[in-house]
Amino acid sequence: MARRHVVAVDIGGTETKAALVTGTPDAVAAQKHARRATPGELEPLLDVIAELVGELSAASEHEIDAVGVVAPGIVDEAAGVGVYTANLPWSGFPFATVLTGRLGVPTAFGHDVRAAGLAESRMGAAKGLRNAVVMPIGTGIAGALLLDGKIFSAGGFAGEIGHVDVGHGEPCACGQIGCVETVASSAAIARRYTARTGTPVQGAAEVARRVRDGEQDAVAVWHEAVDALARGILVLATLLGPEAVVLGGGLALAGDLLVGPLEERLDGLIAFQRRPELRLAALGDEAGFLGAALLAIDTLEA
Ligand SMILES: [Zn+2]
Repeated sequence: MARRHVVAVDIGGTETKAALVTGTPDAVAAQKHARRATPGELEPLLDVIAELVGELSAASEHEIDAVGVVAPGIVDEAAGVGVYTANLPWSGFPFATVLTGRLGVPTAFGHDVRAAGLAESRMGAAKGLRNAVVMPIGTGIAGALLLDGKIFSAGGFAGEIGHVDVGHGEPCACGQIGCVETVASSAAIARRYTARTGTPVQGAAEVARRVRDGEQDAVAVWHEAVDALARGILVLATLLGPEAVVLGGGLALAGDLLVGPLEERLDGLIAFQRRPELRLAALGDEAGFLGAALLAIDTLEA
């Protein structure tokens, strides 16, 4: 298969990261990186994307074949449209069409989490599986659903595992009650530890350290998070039957401290369902733009 040279762009809430990526539909690697603050308005954001693509194209020894851009929120990748985000400046914007015109090369537009899931399924922790869920746990919790070998999108609305009601009764910023991410996201773990103890912490990693030290309040907050995650994973197992659930994002850096108790809790909950193997994500921070690059390469292969 031909090696392709693409620029991958990952639009984040505060920062937009880009990389020069080379490879085939099965495996890609990022070489040069560049980043800018994400502007709060759409036109300046499009300018930033064009600048990043220009900068990395100039740094490339090869001509750029395509561009892949990923973003958070509700994204319809089939149509290349950014449908909605809570914090970024667009609504129903046709990124793929507009950027293809502006950049002069085929440009794919996709969802950050599903793109990361695509990368994990082609070349990472879910490689070789037909059914898996890739679940980044950070500020929020989302899921990329690999169903019978394809990443499932449903017009951008599928995979919101962070907003499944697991019965803890606390209100979520989304308007529902009992959402997984209200107690189990990295942000929630830090927030709930501070609410419980009055002690500010840097983030979930610091709570994890306190769990390792055997501090009781930290252990209690951690266990509530693990319980919510296990219940969320049980829903996935019941509805989708994944062979594995791949844990990613900042919280996955806790490694065994997360996976061990989660395995145990899941074993306690599971009945007839196929018990998904719990794995840690393999591609880390790079998964988003590796996935964006794969979307761009797929556009060329289509
Ligand atoms: Zn919610």
